[in-house]
Parts: sequence; C-alpha cells; structure tokens
Amino acid sequence: MNPLRADLISPLDMFKIGVGPSSSHTVGPMIAALEFRRLASEKLAALAKDKSGSKGEPYKLIVELFGSLSLTGRGHQTDGAICGGLDGLNPQSSPIDQIWSTQEKLNAAPTLDFAGVPVHFRPQDDIVWQEWLMDEKPLPHPNTLRFRLKQGAQIIYEEIILSVGGGFIEPIDRVTGERRPAGSQTVGDDTVNVPYPYNSAQEYVEQCNKSGLPPWQIVIANQEARGLDEKTLRQKLAAILEVFDQCIERGLNTDGILPGGLNVRRRAKGLNEKMLSGKQSTWASPFGLKPSVYAIAVNEENAAGGRVVTAPTNGSSGLIPAVWRTLKESHNLDLTTLQNGLIVASVIGALVKVHASISGAEVGCQGEVGTSCAMAAGGAAAMLGGSPEQIEQAAEIGIEHHLGMTCDPIKGLVQVPCIERNAMGAVKALNAVELSLACDGSHLISLDRALIVMKATGMDMHQKYKETATGGLALG
Ligand code: SF4
Repeated sequence: MNPLRADLISPLDMFKIGVGPSSSHTVGPMIAALEFRRLASEKLAALAKDKSGSKGEPYKLIVELFGSLSLTGRGHQTDGAICGGLDGLNPQSSPIDQIWSTQEKLNAAPTLDFAGVPVHFRPQDDIVWQEWLMDEKPLPHPNTLRFRLKQGAQIIYEEIILSVGGGFIEPIDRVTGERRPAGSQTVGDDTVNVPYPYNSAQEYVEQCNKSGLPPWQIVIANQEARGLDEKTLRQKLAAILEVFDQCIERGLNTDGILPGGLNVRRRAKGLNEKMLSGKQSTWASPFGLKPSVYAIAVNEENAAGGRVVTAPTNGSSGLIPAVWRTLKESHNLDLTTLQNGLIVASVIGALVKVHASISGAEVGCQGEVGTSCAMAAGGAAAMLGGSPEQIEQAAEIGIEHHLGMTCDPIKGLVQVPCIERNAMGAVKALNAVELSLACDGSHLISLDRALIVMKATGMDMHQKYKETATGGLALG
C-alpha cells in the first residue's frame, strides 16, 4: 500500500536536481546508498561504544541488485552511483567527475569510512548482480537493493531499499515489513492537516474552484502548512529552472558520441545550428524543431551522466525543460509564471505517482515520458491562463495518448528510444495544451480514470517491456 497522498508531495520531490542517466537506476540507488551509509554509521557508532561489538574481524559490505536494476544497471551506471553514495557523495551537488571516479578509486583502495570505522568494499567483487528472486521469494519491487554489513559470516546490519522511480526511495521497515518513503521532503509529519486537501484530480479542481485561488496557490498553501514557505519554494524552483537552462545550453554546444558502446552520435548541436540558419523551410508546426532540439539537448546530457533534473524521471528529463523554454521564448513568460507552471506540473506528477507509477520498471515508459507529457501539458495550460478544468484536460490528453507505451532501452542505456521519445513527448504536450485551451474543459475521460487505466495496463504489461532490455527495440 502506498502511504502517500498527492497533496503531501512537494514540487521539490517531483523536480530533484541529480545526475544522469536514470532516476530509478542511478539517482535512487545513489540516494539509497547514502541513506544506508547514514544508518550503518549510526549502527557502527553504537557498536563501537559496546566494547564487545568493536572486536573481531573487519567489517565488510555487500550490495545486491535485483530485478530490473540487475538487468539494466550496468547501462544505467547503477554501480558507479552506489559507490558515490556509499562514499558520502550526493547526486544534487557533488562534483560529477568525483561521483563517476569513485568506483575506480574503491576498486584500487577498497575501504569506506563509516563514521571513522573502516568497512571493506571492493565494487568489482562486492556488488552482486542478482536475479528476480530474493531468498526464493518474489521481489517487493522490480528495483530492489539489499545492503548487508558483515563481520566474518555474521550479518551485523541489513537494509532492503526500493528505488521506486523519479529518485524516490522506500526502505522496507524491518519490523513491520512495510515500505516507508525516505530521502525526500515527503518524509516528515504526514498527519499535518493541509488547508486544501486533495488526492485526486477531481478534488484538486474542486479545491481550485471552491477557494477561487490560482491552481498553484493551493499547492503553496499546503506546502506552507507543512513547513516549506513560499519564498524558499520559489528560490528552489528558480534553481531548478536554472539547471534546465544550463542543461539545454550544454547539450546545444556539445557534440560527439554518447558513452555506453551504442555509438549514438549527439544530434542537438547540429540540429540547433540547422534551425538557427533558417535554411530549413519545411517546418510543419509553428515551433518548428525547437521543442525537439531542446528536449534532445537535455536527454543527451542525461545520457552522458551530466547534471539534470528529474521531471519526473531522468529518462524523461528533457520534455518539461523543452516545453518551458519554448513557451518562455514564444510567450515571453517571466520567472514567476515558469515557477507557477512547475508547481502545477508537480500536482499532475504527484497524482500519477500515487495512483499509478512513475517507474518504467513498474509500468513501462507511459510512467516516465507519458507522465512527463501530462505534467508538461497541465503545467503549460496553467502558465497560459487555462482554467482548472482545462489544466486537468490537458494533462489527461498528455497521458491518454501514451497509455501502453513500453520501456525497451537498447543495451539498457537511456539513449534509444529515450532521447527522441522526449522530443516527441514535448511536441505532444504542446498540442495537448492547444487542444485543451481551445475547448471548455469538458471531456469524456477524466485524468483520474486515465490513471486507473494506466496502472492496470502497466500491471498487464509483460516484464520484458518494463526496463529489462529483454524485449521490443532492445532486441535489435
Ligand atoms: S524507454 Fe522510457 S521508461 Fe524506458 S528508460 Fe527510456 S525513457 Fe525511461
């Protein structure tokens, strides 16, 4: 059972600054490793006080990766990200080069420092790529990690942590066996009574209409009730928008071959130059190639392991920056409006997270690029003055036309089909906004209904189409 409610999820949970190439297979495992480092350090500090606990053989750490993490983790640099987290680095602000060099460093000198206690850990031997069963039982989630701190043959401390998409993690409580959200702002007092409760799109629309507040203000008021004031929220959203732009610029100014062995050549720079030359005369839409080029620029940065923002995942990190940048340029949108759009987009993402999933390993790419398209469409509708009903309709169009989309990344890399898929999603999002703003918001299928169908479709989807690189395009 997912204990989260949509109105408790912060925009800062949905949009997290991190590193590529994957939020569920890179950022989540890195945060999980960091969380384990914290918990294990506390445990070792307690043991050190107890003389008997500090004697005996040296400590040793084993990290096991199960399910989709095991099948596609090498392509997603899961092992490198775990090494960074275990060494105390974080995906948000630690230098990228330092993160990606930690694995090599630990292979050469295999000792972690957990609160002054040396722990043996050589990634090439101590990261174990497991299968779909844990102790003969089905996994609690397709992206499961188990950290075991040992002394000789004895297990001193163990954590099972799930990476549930978008950089969110959920450790399994060792006493109750329940999943608890951790490592993000959703941790905390979830019994706080927010002034505008909602846990469905319908309730959100009703709260907007009943209160007469702008759609983003509902979220701001709820976040303030939980201790995140508007000024801080807006400052952090401004930083996120800055990372969007930096990422687009880096992507537009870098060429070469992406890492991973698939020999995918970066395209954003060349396409942008072509677009700016004005020589291309066959544009089929008013925006031309713009949203596609911006999305490709970000996703190429993501594929190269650069600094990106989950939106809501890394695989789908290019779509929202592309739509925001395109609309900022075409409509001269100011910072406040762009922030407002992100806030509303986060509501859509939170509803998907609670009622379906934003994990490709759980429901396929409908949960990543599909969700991002819905978020972009809803947020953009808000930025362009849409009513709550039009926002809901735009988001519904965005998800409805991604239902059933599989996740089949070739070689487990977040490159093909992922990069171009963001471009297509950005174009669809802009079209969804156009359609919703041209209508009065009344439509047959509600967003809430579409999310039920999305989840059911994801559950029916064969495992080979859910981030395992064992089906579809991944077979070549
Ligand atoms: S196909 Fe979609 S869900 Fe799968 S890795 Fe690529 S972007 Fe993520």
